[in-house]
Order: sequence, then C-alpha cells, then structure tokens
Amino acid sequence: MKHILLNAHLRSKFGERVQRIPLDPGFNCPNRISGNNGCIFCDETGSAAPWIKKGMSITEQLVKGSQLMGGRYKAKKYIAYFQAFTTTNASPDKLERIYEEALSFPGVIGLAVSTRPDALPDDVIKVLEKYSRKTYLWVELGAQSMNDKSLEWMGRGHSSKVFTQAVRRLKDKDVEVIGHIIFGLPTETEQEMLDSFGQFIDTGIDGYKIHALHIIKNTPLARLYEAQPLKLIQMDEYIDLVRRAINMTPQKMVIHSLTGEVDEKRLVAPKWVLKKDEILRRIFE
Ligand code: SF4
Repeated sequence: MKHILLNAHLRSKFGERVQRIPLDPGFNCPNRISGNNGCIFCDETGSAAPWIKKGMSITEQLVKGSQLMGGRYKAKKYIAYFQAFTTTNASPDKLERIYEEALSFPGVIGLAVSTRPDALPDDVIKVLEKYSRKTYLWVELGAQSMNDKSLEWMGRGHSSKVFTQAVRRLKDKDVEVIGHIIFGLPTETEQEMLDSFGQFIDTGIDGYKIHALHIIKNTPLARLYEAQPLKLIQMDEYIDLVRRAINMTPQKMVIHSLTGEVDEKRLVAPKWVLKKDEILRRIFE
C-alpha cells in the first residue's frame, strides 16, 4: 500500500516535521444550540484539547501547544489547527482576526479549519479562499457517514447531500478539503460502511480521517450505551475495514489519520482504540 500520509506530505512540502497545534476559538456549534442536542457522540468540550482552558487567547493556546506538541515531536513549524466545536461559526471579520493572530505566531506556516458542512455561508467561504491563497490551508469537514439513516441516528442535523455540496463549493474556490468519516456505526453493515466510504471519496475531497465510533463520557451515546449496550466494532474488524478503504483510495489523496484522538479519561468504550501504535502497525503490515 503506497499512499501519502499526512506527516510525509507536510515534510515533503515544508522540508521538515510540521506539527498541528489544536486550538479552540470558543465559537460553540450550531448543532448544540437552538434546541439541537448535538451529535450523539459529542461531549461538552466539542473535542477541544484537554490542556486548553476557557478564555485562553489564540496566542496563549499556541504558546502552550507549541511547548507540549513542539517539544514532544521536536517540531519548529506548526499548523494552527482550529479544532474545537464548529470553527467557522463566527463572522468573517472575527475569522480573519484569529487567522492573522495565528499566522503571526513564530513557526506557524498554515491553518487547518474544522467545521460542519452546513456552517459555510458564502462570506465564510470567501475568507477561506483568501487564506488558502495567502498561506497553506485546509478545511476539515465532518461527513461521519454518507448514509442518511446513520446521519439521522447520530443527530448530525445535515444530510449527505449537504456534505457533497459543501465539498464542491470549497473545491470550486480551490480550497483543500479533508473529510472525516466514522466506521463502526451500529446503523451500518460492513458493506454499507464501504459503500458510504466509496461515496465519500467520490465527493472530490483531497484527503480524509477515519476513526472508529467512540463512546465518550457525558454524551447522549454514553447514556444510550449505559441503558442498552450497543454492539461495537472490534479491533480486527476495524483494521480489516480500514485496509479495504485504503485499497479503494486514489493515490493522490492524503491520509490524515486512521485512528481517533481520544482522551483515555473521557473514553467509555471501546478500549482497544487506545492501542494506536498496534492498530497502525497492523493496518500497514
Ligand atoms: S458538529 Fe461537532 S461540535 Fe457540533 S455537535 Fe457535532 S461533533 Fe459536536
């Protein structure tokens, strides 16, 4: 299997190790407000890195993140990774201000912007287009599945069509798009997961992240699991599915991640997802 992995891609582009520093711009998520309960797997942190405290500025987060991540991986170049909640859920002016603040931090050579496919109004896409010309930028878009019955089960609040349209609108402006998808949803058979993955890579995304369904404490999914345990995907099944997904992947796509980032203290199940090194070794052996 000869596919491009994110670290190698960044190293070939910038000539050295580049580390993403996760950031929380404090924007919340439209799917968690206005009467929506959020996605079934989402907790109150919206996937923010555990060291980020409420109220920290982007610069303070970059200082802390570069000490932790830069030190651990000996990196001197960084991607400012706007990760928590829905990071386009703000005015274009506000987005420009945080991008400028991040880009003025020593070592930051690019931006990654994580969002929902229905949180991309035209004026926000314009800002993303502007910064993708000014610096290296990619947008991370959660599809999670291309199966509408699964999207409904997850409470995503958008359809697969909305994801496809969002990819097209960003690609029309030459903005790089990285999709997220989950394997192991109890609403899907193995074949449905692969069919969903096939539709996902056909949308025109430039790369992707895959992870298994995680049950995190204090989420609707954790409460459901406690009331009635779900059948969760096993490590062997997940590895087999990911290997088949990689075989379906066009060579030019960049694989950003094949395992989830999960905080052990917040994880309810499945515990095997913590064995990241073993999972990756077995996927590529
Ligand atoms: S879109 Fe993201 S932040 Fe919003 S509810 Fe879903 S997982 Fe949470």
